[in-house]
Amino acid sequence: MTGEPRPGLLAWLRSVGAPVPPGITEDDCARLSSSPPESAFEKRPSTTRIVVHHSATRDGSMRHFRVMHRVVSGWTDVGYHYVIGNGILAGDGLVEPGRPAWAVGAHARGSNTDSIGICLVGDFTASLPSPRQAASLSKLLSRLMEEHGIPKDCVLLHREVPGCVTECPGALFTRGFLEGTVLT
Ligand SMILES: [Zn+2]
Repeated sequence: MTGEPRPGLLAWLRSVGAPVPPGITEDDCARLSSSPPESAFEKRPSTTRIVVHHSATRDGSMRHFRVMHRVVSGWTDVGYHYVIGNGILAGDGLVEPGRPAWAVGAHARGSNTDSIGICLVGDFTASLPSPRQAASLSKLLSRLMEEHGIPKDCVLLHREVPGCVTECPGALFTRGFLEGTVLT
């Protein structure tokens, strides 16, 4: 935590340039910032890959991305299974669960039925994850890789997912960084 004032959820959506539908209020955002019931989700038939994302925002938390995905994208829930904070709006290195771990996510077009999505808060076109974020990602990946029997080469950056046209997770977050710093 930085001690900076926390904007309301609606103000935050506007601060990141999200196209908020007309008529949405702060109360709507607050209501949609909690998890939907488990019955809203579809079970993921298999888990063979893990995809790493950045938020491409300066700050945020699971709650903020949940509101963005529910209010602006109109999705059932936040698209990611885990979010790792960067110290602004969520603790530095804090791992927050999002979609249920067993559910189909919404984070990598065409590849959601067999993958887990992890989003690190920050914009890695300009800077790297904080050391605490990298350490938390490392621990989380080891646990998930072991749990699902996923090898290193099936831990992908979003831009490495076949069919995904994106720079995510930012130019500075390279395969070399993943393998040299995170997956050690
Ligand atoms: Zn991404």
